[in-house]
Amino acid sequence: MATIYVVAVTGEGQARIPSVPECLFCRIASGGVPASRVLESPRTLSFRDISPEAPTHVLVVPKEHYPDLAALAAADGSLLAELVSQVHEVAAAEGISARGYRVVFNTGADAGQVVPHVHAHVLGGRGLGWPPG
Ligand code: AMP
Ligand code: ZN
Repeated sequence: MATIYVVAVTGEGQARIPSVPECLFCRIASGGVPASRVLESPRTLSFRDISPEAPTHVLVVPKEHYPDLAALAAADGSLLAELVSQVHEVAAAEGISARGYRVVFNTGADAGQVVPHVHAHVLGGRGLGWPPG
């Protein structure tokens, strides 16, 4: 049985998929899967990573489904800007913006992206090593 998605076309002419039923982060965004929510903006949601790698480890996602950073950047620059703005809002709300924090978009297999719904990791609250592993 084929799966048919309803695809919207953005103002920039790129296809986007509002929600993918089997996508974990789409389900968190719609409230179908619980998460520890931190902040919300009109088109983004922030919630705590279930397996934190630092005292603050929050994920920021668009509520709409884009598989990775490249897809989001190509389709909707204003949503990407809102996402990045929310990253800093999260850092400020978590009290880590003054000392510093790291933002990571794992993109693709070599980067270890596991969940194919674009997300920014916001990490802080301790000194972070560089380069990453
Ligand atoms: P990535 O490797 O960049 O795709 O990161 C996916 C992240 O999602 C990992 O850091 C996981 O710990 C996190 N994660 C997986 N399931 C959940 C969940 N149900 N709630 C919150 N974070 C999750
Ligand atoms: Zn999704």
